[in-house]
Amino acid sequence: MNHVKSEAIFEKAQKLIPGGVNSPVRAYRSVGGNPPFISRGNGSRIWDIDGNEYVDYVGSWGPLLLGHRHPDILRALAGALEIGTSFGAPTEQEVELAEAICDALPSVEMVRLVNSGTEATMAAIRLARGFTGRDLAVKFEGCYHGHVDSPLVKAGSGIATLGIPDTQGVPKSFSDTTIALPFNSVDAVDAAFRAHGERIAAVIVEPVVGNMGCVPPAPGFLEALREITARHGSLLIFDEVMTGFRVAFGGAQKRYGIRPDLTTLGKVIGGGLPVGAYGGRADILRKVAPAGPVYQAGTLSGNPLAVAAGLAMLRHLKAHPEIYTQLEERGAALQAAVPKDITVNRVGSMFTFFFTGGPVTDYESAKRSDTARFGRFFRKMLERGIYLPPSQFEAAFLSAAHTEEDIRRTVDAAREAFSA
Ligand SMILES: *Cc1c(COP(=O)(O)O)cnc(C)c1O
Repeated sequence: MNHVKSEAIFEKAQKLIPGGVNSPVRAYRSVGGNPPFISRGNGSRIWDIDGNEYVDYVGSWGPLLLGHRHPDILRALAGALEIGTSFGAPTEQEVELAEAICDALPSVEMVRLVNSGTEATMAAIRLARGFTGRDLAVKFEGCYHGHVDSPLVKAGSGIATLGIPDTQGVPKSFSDTTIALPFNSVDAVDAAFRAHGERIAAVIVEPVVGNMGCVPPAPGFLEALREITARHGSLLIFDEVMTGFRVAFGGAQKRYGIRPDLTTLGKVIGGGLPVGAYGGRADILRKVAPAGPVYQAGTLSGNPLAVAAGLAMLRHLKAHPEIYTQLEERGAALQAAVPKDITVNRVGSMFTFFFTGGPVTDYESAKRSDTARFGRFFRKMLERGIYLPPSQFEAAFLSAAHTEEDIRRTVDAAREAFSA
């Protein structure tokens, strides 16, 4: 496998784009080497500009639950192009997408569409502050809620990968509004509420963390968050940008049976186009402008192409509930390939191999993983045509397009790569 063309373009890219990439997680700094440049994708496969083929476990970092170029989504996009690409005025399809989201997620009674997961979490936190009249927000170490200023404290994803503990450029007065606690620690949440309960507007959490690698909630943790926030008049925000429509059709809230006050969405609901959404209790959403005093807006929000792709995605998933069973089975088959000294965390189609023998339940234990060994494993897999996220602290994703043959190929490659 050679990457001659990719290397040449990357050289040029680094002169024109910071680090040569438009999002830090695309860089290969933590695993060594440079990223291949992708020329096309189809189903579970992608190809780079040097003609190498890979089984893709990044899936655009989560959105592509149906794989690349799913026919329903292509058809919907072609239909939308016939009508126009943007109006900045209401369209019928936006209402249909809002209805599809509210139908699937029991806690979401009203929803506002935005253009990214970051916009969704930014707006949800503002709304929680506006609704409660309080300033503080609790988050968990290693969780990532987009690149919104105040929750960039002890964040996961690229921040964890690059070892940037707290980003520059965020005023201290902003980060001071965030209380970062260890994930899965009810005691820490209890203590924070005992100290500051009256001032905490919301707890925001990835109900299944994807952004320090995949870390599931311990039994009782989400229930405790629900109980403690309700007792103190704080809101519970589930950041389901990654888990929404992925860990179950109704998201993690359906899978674990918890009713958050607010939910943020992105990734899958855009079918591969840029979309985000925040929604929840109607009495809270009615505070959003123009219905209420909390301001939030967007020139391209509810964009017709993105809405068409998202709607096609959700309709396909609703019509094919067996997709989730298949994802469970294929995920379990992948997991079976892993040797004893490696910890696999998996929830449905989200998974991470941690190069540590002990359990990974929070950011501290995730950081115990041998990242140098992960880097060697990653490069071996890439050479064998398996495209994983280039970071220990990211989840890999299965899609409905992954076949049994893809899984066999991946398991064979992994058996060799694990021993590297
Ligand atoms: C990806 C992600 C975001 C940010 O979404 P963008 O579309 O990248 O802005 C926020 N929260 C979670 C849980 C995510 O996984």
